[in-house]
Amino acid sequence: MFTTAAPVKTALPRDLFSAIADLKRELNAVILAHYYQDPDIQDIADYLGDSLGLSQQAAQTDADVIVFAGVHFMAETAKILNPDKLVLLPDLNAGCSLADSCPPDEFAKFKAKYPDHLVISYINCTADIKAMSDIICTSANAVKIVNQIPADQPIIFAPDRNLGKYVIEQTGRDMVLWQGSCMVHETFSEKKMVQLKIQYPDAEVIAHPECEEVVLRHADYIGSTTALLNYCQKSDRQSFIVVTEPGIIHQMQKAAPDKQFIPAPPLNQCACNECPHMRLNTLEKLYLAMKTKTPEITLPESTRIAALRPIQKMLAMSV
Ligand code: SF4
Repeated sequence: MFTTAAPVKTALPRDLFSAIADLKRELNAVILAHYYQDPDIQDIADYLGDSLGLSQQAAQTDADVIVFAGVHFMAETAKILNPDKLVLLPDLNAGCSLADSCPPDEFAKFKAKYPDHLVISYINCTADIKAMSDIICTSANAVKIVNQIPADQPIIFAPDRNLGKYVIEQTGRDMVLWQGSCMVHETFSEKKMVQLKIQYPDAEVIAHPECEEVVLRHADYIGSTTALLNYCQKSDRQSFIVVTEPGIIHQMQKAAPDKQFIPAPPLNQCACNECPHMRLNTLEKLYLAMKTKTPEITLPESTRIAALRPIQKMLAMSV
């Protein structure tokens, strides 16, 4: 649920980095940031991670305020896990095309058609969808979680059809898929990727499972954002074609400064491989959110409690 606040005119300090550090101490705040954030935000974060790492971190923090530099469903997850803490999202418009591709009323009708199915939902969904799910998963643990479900238990997998297809391929389970997708991960061009492979014959293609099957079949390695980051450090190759949101390349370059990371090109001459929602957050907005303690994430308690159960199941099943 969005909390609206009157626009507040606050002057920006000259040194945003030290002003944010001061506010962090003053508020006893923790800054959690996703790998797809701008490099400045990544550098100031207390914890940087993908959806699984961020939700684990949100579950453990003893800070009074969580500043979530990511998108709305991620901050919502932090609130579900921390009802008594103030959770701030620098820009409330930072949504997610994948979460939006699964409207709760339509999903409720879909689910009603399969009454004996267990619902496993990818964490990239709204609190309302989480509340209708039995278990949440991330791209890092989806295969592990599906493998723990008894073989005779039918499953609905929502909302990402590409991750769902990848999990079916990895586990051999015949799941019913909700047909949602991420606008960023469906933007990569197979043709341009093949051209890049010809141009850089020694490069390994590393891809996120939210990408389409036609793109994934060219990948040498498929994994969650954190798995891709770990893989490029371990691999003895020197160059990588990175098929996911290019924000992660900042961490790849820091972790392996001598290696080359080539962002996979989108279909058009645009920057549409960058998540427009993630990029709404800026260092300025992050400072203002901490200074004014808005915008705050709030949720109806009944939704929060219903959404908490499948998240806790995920956390227990991924250790
Ligand atoms: S990259 Fe895709 S799934 Fe991730 S936040 Fe952006 S729109 Fe959502």
